Amino acid sequence: MTGHRALHILSSQRRLGRCRFCSRPRVPLQWVTVMVSTSLPDYAPDWAFFLDVDGTLIEIADHPDAVNPTPRMKAIITHLRLTTDGAVALVSGRAIAELDNLFMPLIGLPAAGLHGLERRDAEGRIHLEALTESPLNEAKHELREFTKLNPGILLEDKGTTVALHYRNAPSLESAAQATMREVLYRLGDDFELKSGKMVVELKPSGRHKGHAVEEFMDESPFRGRTPVFIGDDITDEDGFLVVNRMHGCSIRVGETNYSAAQYCIPDVEAVLNWLEHYHSHHWR
Ligand SMILES: [Mg+2]
Repeated sequence: MTGHRALHILSSQRRLGRCRFCSRPRVPLQWVTVMVSTSLPDYAPDWAFFLDVDGTLIEIADHPDAVNPTPRMKAIITHLRLTTDGAVALVSGRAIAELDNLFMPLIGLPAAGLHGLERRDAEGRIHLEALTESPLNEAKHELREFTKLNPGILLEDKGTTVALHYRNAPSLESAAQATMREVLYRLGDDFELKSGKMVVELKPSGRHKGHAVEEFMDESPFRGRTPVFIGDDITDEDGFLVVNRMHGCSIRVGETNYSAAQYCIPDVEAVLNWLEHYHSHHWR
């Protein structure tokens, strides 16, 4: 893997104004062209790792519950934590409780769940966004009716977010996307859609994975280190943008024509190999 290729990316987030959670200003949407490296960065001893899960550390399955986290992957995470003094966080669209089940027997890993709506810091403290009673309940009912009428579409209810998966019914992508847009229209600006690989998700707006990375980087043991974010999907782009701004390394898993990531890596196996070799450098 050597060389560079041009990609067209969005320079920042979608909307103007200020984030309602952290009051940071949003910046105007702008298309820019960057050169992405098809080789990977040289290892550095001061890295902090932010790792997406599905499609990055574990292979995507037909059903979110059917994934298979391998003992090797868990061993790599354990070694990585030792090498970095604990500066390893999971940053996922899954809920933290789900991540805990997947990563058993590893306990209490720093993690951001639901695209940053919930976060567990390195001390084990949970940070939740204060959300008003969810107006999602009516929407969930409507989406359940939609799935009954469209076999193959899977509804995933994560509590404060809800997703429609069409991996098992790709011909229904347009119908799923259109239904979600209708629901979003009724819910208004407090919600937004996140599209991923064969999935579209409805979530409270304003928080994304990049915010979680910024918060981790303000805390021990991440503070003072260089962030490295690895992810495979559109929802990881916010993390890439934040890490780029911090002069860190952003790495996209798989082929794509649109990404803010500086580097790309082919697949889950390559990610695990690369992380495994980082540990073998014995920095200390
Ligand atoms: Mg992913």
